[in-house]
Amino acid sequence: MPELYIDGAWRAALAGGQRDIRCPADGSLTVTVDEAGPDDTLDAILAARRAFDESSWPSGSVHDRCALLHRVADLLASHKSDVARAESLDTGKRLVESEYDVDDVVAVFRFYAGAAAGTAGRVVDTGRPDVRSRVVHEPIGVCALITPWNYPLLQTSWKVAPCLAAGNTFVLKPSELTPSTAILLMRYLIEAGLPAGVGNLVLGAGPQAGALLTTHPGVDLVSFTGGLGTGRQLMAAVAPTVKKVALELGGKNPNIVFADADLEVALDFALTAIFLHSGQVCSAGARLLIEGSVKDKFVDELVVRAERIRLGGPFDDKAETGPLISAEHRAKVEAYVEAGRGEGAQVRCGGSRPDDPALSVGFYYLPTILDGCTSSMSVVQNESFGPVLTVETFVDEDDAVRIANDTIFGLAGAVWTSNAGRAERVASRLRMGTVWINDYHPYVPQAEWGGYKQSGVGRELGVAGLDEYRETKHIWHNVRPEVQRWFGDG
Ligand code: NDP
Repeated sequence: MPELYIDGAWRAALAGGQRDIRCPADGSLTVTVDEAGPDDTLDAILAARRAFDESSWPSGSVHDRCALLHRVADLLASHKSDVARAESLDTGKRLVESEYDVDDVVAVFRFYAGAAAGTAGRVVDTGRPDVRSRVVHEPIGVCALITPWNYPLLQTSWKVAPCLAAGNTFVLKPSELTPSTAILLMRYLIEAGLPAGVGNLVLGAGPQAGALLTTHPGVDLVSFTGGLGTGRQLMAAVAPTVKKVALELGGKNPNIVFADADLEVALDFALTAIFLHSGQVCSAGARLLIEGSVKDKFVDELVVRAERIRLGGPFDDKAETGPLISAEHRAKVEAYVEAGRGEGAQVRCGGSRPDDPALSVGFYYLPTILDGCTSSMSVVQNESFGPVLTVETFVDEDDAVRIANDTIFGLAGAVWTSNAGRAERVASRLRMGTVWINDYHPYVPQAEWGGYKQSGVGRELGVAGLDEYRETKHIWHNVRPEVQRWFGDG
C-alpha cells in the first residue's frame, strides 16, 4: 500500500521516490516507504487549502471534532503494541519507552478533545448597552506540521491534536528517518472519520518534501520541532509570506544540584536526566551544575553508575538505553566529544563506541561524562543530542543561576535542594520554559511546553498549545444603530 496520503487517497510519489527505513539498533530493514517530492507536497497543500476553504470542516461542530479525537485516542490505545513496535523499529528505542510514549499520545488526544470543547470564547462588556461584543476563536487555516525523529509520534500528537481540535487542515511531514507511526496515525484518523483533504501526509527529506511547506502562500502556519539551525532557516523561509510560526527547538538544559539536596535521589535522576533515550531528548539534563563542596563524591559515583548502563536494541529486555538514530548523528556526537577534549574537558567515562561485538552494527555510543567544564566551552554551549553530560561546579546560589542562564537556549532545567525558599528563588530566576524542582523530565498535556530565548517561539501543550492553532476575532454587534452625524448633515 502506498504511504503518501493526499486529498483522501493513499498514493505513491509522482516522481517514484522511495526510501528504506532501517532500525538503528542493527541496520535491519524496517519498511520501504514512498518519498515525496515538491509536486506531491504541492498537491497536499492544495488539498488542505480546498478542504479549509470549501468544506464544512472549519465551521463544523467543535463537539464533532472532539468526538473524532476521542475515537483516534481509542484506536491508538487499542493498537498500542503495534504502534509501539513500529516506533521502536524506526527509532531503536526500548519497546517499553515506546509503550509509554503511546500512553502519552493517547492522553494528548484526549486532553485536546476536552480543552477545545471548553473554550468557546468570551463576552466583552463594552460599557455600551446597545452593543453585544464577543471574542471568538477560529481556525487559522492550512497548517504545516514538521516533526523530528526522537519522539516521532509524541511530537506529532502535540501538533495534530490541537490543530484538528481548532478546526484547521494540515499537511504533516515527519522526519525522513521515522515515518512509520505517522502512517499508522493517518490510518487511525481516517478510520475515525477524518474528511478527505483535512489531513495530508507527505514523507521524505526536508529540502525535497518539506521546503515548499515553508514558502507556499497557501500555508498559513508552520509548526516545527527540530534543531536550531533548521529553525533559523525556516523562520527566514516563511518571512516573505508572513506565516504564523510555532517553533520548538533545542535545549542545553542545566540540572543544578545543591549540597543540601537528597543526593542519592539527585544522583539517580541525574543519570536519567541525560542518559534516557541516549540523550536524544530536547529537555535532556545535559549540563550538571554541582555545588563545589559535594562535587567529587557526586561525580565519582555518577561515573560508576554511568559505566554500568546496559546498551541494547529495542527488544532486548536487559537493555537500559538504545542506539543513536543514525551513523551521521553518531558522527556528530563523536565530533562534539572530540571538541570537548580539545577544549580541555576530562573524559571520565565513555567517549567512544562500545567494544561489545554484538553492538557493532548499531549506532551505539557509550554514556559519556565530561568533567572540568566551564560555560565558555563549545561542549557546554552546543547541543550534542547524545549521551554526553558536561560537569560544571558552582560556589553559591547566585553563581548557579548565572552559570545556568549563560546559554542561548532556555527550554528546561532542574534544581535539587532541600531548602524550599532557595528552590523557589532559583526556579523563578531560571530563564527557561520548564523548571523542575527535585524532579526531572515529567510533563503533562495540561501544562504548556516550550522555550525561552532561542529554544523556540510559542508553546505546545496546555491551552496555549491550542491557541497556537486559533485566530482570535472580536465581533462587535451594534443592536441599535443610529445616525451619528460626525460629518454633519452631508
Ligand atoms: P531537524 O531540524 O534536522 O529536522 C526536523 C524536521 O525538519 C525534520 O522533519 C526535517 O526533515 C525537517 N526539515 C529539515 N530541513 C527542512 C526544510 N528546509 N524545510 C522544511 N522541513 C525541513 O531536527 P532533527 O530531526 O535532527 O531533530 C533533532 C532536533 O530536534 C534537536 O536539535 C532537538 O533539540 C530538537 N527537538 C526539540 C524539541 C522541543 O520540544 N523543543 C523536541 C524534540 C526535538 P528530514 O529530517 O526528514 O530531512
